[in-house]
Amino acid sequence: MEGFLMLAINGGHLFDGIGDDFQKNVSVTIEKDKIMNLGYGAKAEKTLDATGCYILPGLIDCHVHINWIPGPDPQGFITGKSDSFIALTSCNMAYRNLSLGITTVRDCCAQTTTGMALRDVIKSGIIVGPNIVTCGPALAITGGHGFFLSAEVNGADNVRAMTRKLFKDKVDFIKLMASGGVYTEGEEPGFPQMTVEEMTAACEEAHKRSKKVTAHAEGLAGIMNALQAGVDGIEHGNMADDEAIEMMVKKGVYLVPTLVCFESMAKPGAADFVVRKSEIMKLASRNMIKKAIQAGVKIAAGTDSSAPNNPPENYFWELELFHEHGMSKLDALKAATSRAAEAIGVDYTGSLEAGKMADILVVEGNPLEDLGNLRKIRYIIKSGQVVVDGDRTYFHRTVNM
Ligand SMILES: [Zn+2]
Ligand SMILES: [Zn+2]
Repeated sequence: MEGFLMLAINGGHLFDGIGDDFQKNVSVTIEKDKIMNLGYGAKAEKTLDATGCYILPGLIDCHVHINWIPGPDPQGFITGKSDSFIALTSCNMAYRNLSLGITTVRDCCAQTTTGMALRDVIKSGIIVGPNIVTCGPALAITGGHGFFLSAEVNGADNVRAMTRKLFKDKVDFIKLMASGGVYTEGEEPGFPQMTVEEMTAACEEAHKRSKKVTAHAEGLAGIMNALQAGVDGIEHGNMADDEAIEMMVKKGVYLVPTLVCFESMAKPGAADFVVRKSEIMKLASRNMIKKAIQAGVKIAAGTDSSAPNNPPENYFWELELFHEHGMSKLDALKAATSRAAEAIGVDYTGSLEAGKMADILVVEGNPLEDLGNLRKIRYIIKSGQVVVDGDRTYFHRTVNM
């Protein structure tokens, strides 16, 4: 459906991403790509009937790998492929995320500049997709975790130089590999990788530019090193102990636990080394997340899609796991919207307020009764454009320059 100058969503109950409940019968008026106002019974050029439905901000997945197509060995499929091939296949994942109501993804490492290219093509309006916030390649020690989608760096000066180079290439944030992990052969998640000194250099360069740094950190030593270096976020955090959790709370560091990733990779089907390590990390996470929720760590939703056997559809399961482990359904919705926006450092989306980008999800059941109702999609609006209307999708745009 081509964009309308004025669009209104009428008759639904609205959660703005920040408040404590859905408000009854609130209309949303959209002008071009932005929310103009929230009110009652708005008139517009085009109206969407949301009677009895639930309106909320478009969802945010704080940890995806936009280059990976779901399957048992997503990296195997792209190894040796050109940047052009990978950028084009990544479009499929952009559509797939958006069709779930995920209107923003943070890409937590991609081959060379493919993430930035896709981000910019979507931003230009030529193809339809979610907002993409990307780090480009991660920074990892030589042969370290995820070296295949990383720039390999050693020593603080080298890290500083590469961080500057990444910002020259227009990355949005920096991702550090602070520990080993699951989906890289020949390393253990418990072992630390980048040093405090190396990670401090990256944090200094990023923070000078008001940009964020997040660290893949599964083992305790890696988590503590990253926190000491001054990162803004911890990805996974599986083996965080009470001291690490307390430090995250004190420093206001965001945790993106990606629980579904470890649950999924531990299932049979992926390589033996993946299943073995993931089984251990899955159990560590189940123990850690309860404590982190109770301690009040700022937790945001991310899936780590599409790591082995972990497709983007698992997003809703991640929110359900948060709730199972002690988070209220309201906080789970915030972890998917306003808190996620804070975690990834964007202020234009993640809540429904006048002036914000019109990234909106309308579902046919109350998610505060059952988070699974988020799967019952009626409408998806991305930057003011209706991309899903019931069972019809509008992912094509006629564009003239
Ligand atoms: Zn990771
Ligand atoms: Zn990841």
